[in-house]
Amino acid sequence: MSESIKIKIDGQELLLSIGTRVRDVLEKHCPAWLKSSVGVTLNAEPLDFQMALHADGELVPLEPGGNTSSMALQMCRHTTSHVLAQAVQELFEGVQVGIGPPTADGFYYDFLREDPFTPADLQAIEKRMRKLIKTNQKMERLEMSKGDAEKIFAEKGEDLKVELIRDKGGAQVSCYQQGNFIDFCTGPHLPHTGKIPAIKLLHTAAAHWRPERDREDSPMMQRIYGTAFFSAEDLKTFLDHREEAKKRDHRRLGIDLDLFHFDEKAGPGMAYWHPKGGTVRHQIEGFLCNEQLSRGYDVVYTPHIARKHLWETSGHYDYYKEHMFTLDVDEQEYVLKPMNCPGHILIYQKGTRSYRDLPLRYSEFGTVYRNELSGVLHGMLRVRGFTQDDAHIFCRPDQIQEEVSGALDLALHIMKTFGYDEYRIDLSLHDPSNKDKYAGDEDQWGLAENALADALDSMGLVYERRLNEAAFYGPKIDFHLIDALGRAWQGSTIQLDFNLPERFNLTYVGDDGHQHRTAMIHRAIYGSLERFVGGLIEHYGGAFPLWLAPVQVIVLPIADRHIEYAEEIAAAAGEAGLRAEVDRRSGKLGAKIRDAQTQKLPFMLIVGDRDMENQEVSVRHRTVGDLGSFTIETFLTQALQDIDGRAVREWPLREDVTAPA
Ligand SMILES: [Zn+2]
Ligand SMILES: [Zn+2]
Repeated sequence: MSESIKIKIDGQELLLSIGTRVRDVLEKHCPAWLKSSVGVTLNAEPLDFQMALHADGELVPLEPGGNTSSMALQMCRHTTSHVLAQAVQELFEGVQVGIGPPTADGFYYDFLREDPFTPADLQAIEKRMRKLIKTNQKMERLEMSKGDAEKIFAEKGEDLKVELIRDKGGAQVSCYQQGNFIDFCTGPHLPHTGKIPAIKLLHTAAAHWRPERDREDSPMMQRIYGTAFFSAEDLKTFLDHREEAKKRDHRRLGIDLDLFHFDEKAGPGMAYWHPKGGTVRHQIEGFLCNEQLSRGYDVVYTPHIARKHLWETSGHYDYYKEHMFTLDVDEQEYVLKPMNCPGHILIYQKGTRSYRDLPLRYSEFGTVYRNELSGVLHGMLRVRGFTQDDAHIFCRPDQIQEEVSGALDLALHIMKTFGYDEYRIDLSLHDPSNKDKYAGDEDQWGLAENALADALDSMGLVYERRLNEAAFYGPKIDFHLIDALGRAWQGSTIQLDFNLPERFNLTYVGDDGHQHRTAMIHRAIYGSLERFVGGLIEHYGGAFPLWLAPVQVIVLPIADRHIEYAEEIAAAAGEAGLRAEVDRRSGKLGAKIRDAQTQKLPFMLIVGDRDMENQEVSVRHRTVGDLGSFTIETFLTQALQDIDGRAVREWPLREDVTAPA
């Protein structure tokens, strides 16, 4: 190894001896950075001022507001986690510390303690943290031998840290000390705690000590989650978003809006769709079904169980067994289908396929079952039984690009309809240097990957190429939908498959009269209906657009004498095709309006004496408020226009639209 390294900094080229500290370089060549930044990056790796340089590269300042701000924020949160541990040890004597890393949106620290921390504890801890932060404690990096580090932590009674040092440390280890608190840690850290402007402790949870080791005597820890930002405004935005996300949680809204539930009596991870949730799902299924029919798809149905043999042929029995539910029928092993593909293949195979027959597009709302670990189940997003809007396209290799384009076009149309204006696309490719991992030969991969990329390019779509992230059986395109709160949700997927056509020997007769290998595309636009609806609930905050709303119109009679007229209005709306109800309860109008608002019903039609007299309704919209009086015909005409157009936005009634004469 050479004794010196070449470092670029702010346009200068320096020849430095290896091991030079960042601070020494900055003091001499860029002293301003010591004030304006919290650290540097070297080859995209964050370093703090106390760290040593060991490689050639360019130093870039880590600034709270700049391009490197996410790394700066990570550093800030990591330092805050140390302050959290310091505060806890000052307030709760004898509590051992575990680990305390930064996370995607904050940090946590684990503590060895029987009792969970209470909300009052968190308040006291946060108060102490603010005090510690204000004292501008220096974050001092200490480098020492493994033995010395072990001794320091053993003397403090930090047995868990000693365990970590023994398992993880090299000959030399690093620790960071602020005040009396010292932590075994690789860093990097802020120069001092005064650089942490805005903090908040969020919640607590129980956690196992080093769960990856799966040890029976692994003690339970009490984890405290928190976050930190470089500005109070950023922290407020984060907390507001978090509050909004809680309000939009599909598990909570699923119950509040009477859409679905999970039932302990039946088992975890299986959703029971109530009539209102069923209505939403029915609309969503029907919409896609009609789209698919108009785009040349066929509808097929396949049974839920099939002999083990089918899954041996497909390979699932060998590679996917731990996720499959099996059952005995007539002393034979059957499998509850975890995927629909083999079923569609059986239909394809029933007959000789000529090049003129292709493509064949088989679609099915296929319910599948997968044995997910109960620990990873999460509302509608991770379930054991779910319905895919699954389709398999069997085509000639020269048709792949056109078929992929067709699937992309459908995916874009669906996303637009549901108001997902933002999305990310990944194109996952194989790695030619990693051949063992993939089925199929280089020619197949080349053809398929080009077809996918050409399809994306010809539609002008922006996407990210992800090398070595293809499925073992073929390249794929994945959509990630960005919801109203800026969060990403798994969306449509289009995957090529070289594996199943081989395993099942899928062929077609070419124009040369010979048998050729059929190409196969798996595609799901919604993915799973459960996950898609769960995502929609959070995207809309439960306020479904008119065409999806389980109840589109509720008629609110002001007094009992208006009930009969209200029934007439609801009947007229029902006849026009709207889902309409009457709130027949006696009680104050204000309370009825509040209930309708809470249920997020799009339109309230209020009827009283004047409305009856004029044969009108007073229209109130859930977000826009009172819209004025209209004849029922005028209202229905406009509502139906929005429903037919599947309008996503909240429209007020427009003056220019009147009922047809
Ligand atoms: Zn640390
Ligand atoms: Zn499939």
